[in-house]
Amino acid sequence: MTYDGISSARASDPITKKSLSAKIRTGLAWPRSFTRYRLRAWTDKRIGPISYVRTDEPVVALTFDDGPNPRFTPQLMRVLAKHGAHATFFMLGTMARRHPGIVREIAEQGHAIGNHTSDHPSLPLVSRRERWRQIRSCSRALGPYEQKLFRPPYGQRDVGSCMDAAILGYSIIVWDAHAFDWLDHDADWMAKHMISHIHPGSIITLHDAVHNVIDERYADRSPTIRAVDLLLEEKGREYQFVTVPELLRRGRVNRQTCFGDVNKEFPRSLKPNDGPIYPYAPDGERK
Ligand SMILES: [Zn+2]
Repeated sequence: MTYDGISSARASDPITKKSLSAKIRTGLAWPRSFTRYRLRAWTDKRIGPISYVRTDEPVVALTFDDGPNPRFTPQLMRVLAKHGAHATFFMLGTMARRHPGIVREIAEQGHAIGNHTSDHPSLPLVSRRERWRQIRSCSRALGPYEQKLFRPPYGQRDVGSCMDAAILGYSIIVWDAHAFDWLDHDADWMAKHMISHIHPGSIITLHDAVHNVIDERYADRSPTIRAVDLLLEEKGREYQFVTVPELLRRGRVNRQTCFGDVNKEFPRSLKPNDGPIYPYAPDGERK
């Protein structure tokens, strides 16, 4: 068959006639994708998760998730007090209810307390009703000590969960530095890793407890606490370690997108909470 034969065959092909409707569909799709683009730009600019603050001032925010833990959180508070550093604790409602004395003490020492849900689900994987219940239940547990800061479990979010947190009045706080402290790195390695990654305006994420663990032995927070001590020894004079609300006052926020990819398998691959954490709690605190 010649090329002419092909083109004449195509001209009479019913599929070719349908191409007009395909063209119309393409034409309609463009405004839809443009609308999605505008929606994304609008939400990311206003409610996108804050990962750091643009500032020339030497300020950094340490944040600690998943606590309070009766064994490790008081140790950590002593290290912070030794260096005159302040931090932000993103607590779980379930843990705050078990240890209200630690919640109060953290607030009294000038640290900030934020919301990390009631029991740590990945918010894009649960219903909207459940997301609201998780955030509100944690808020009730934290009571007057809560500031309107929200950290999504595993950092996982989508546009729906970002909007829910925003509607409930929260700023979403993620991070731009961490130390892989949910794995078994030693204190020196973690301190060096943080020192090489922080800059003015950084938000660092660590854990004073680990709600879901890859391995039970990683629930021991002693290396993290030692790493914080080393970090503050090394950088305590160069940087002022402040709470997240204080950091937000010092510069312009940098926001990430609400439309990130969500790894649904990761949270499901972890071990559930109570077993791994409680071997490290004093006997009286065990469930
Ligand atoms: Zn967490």
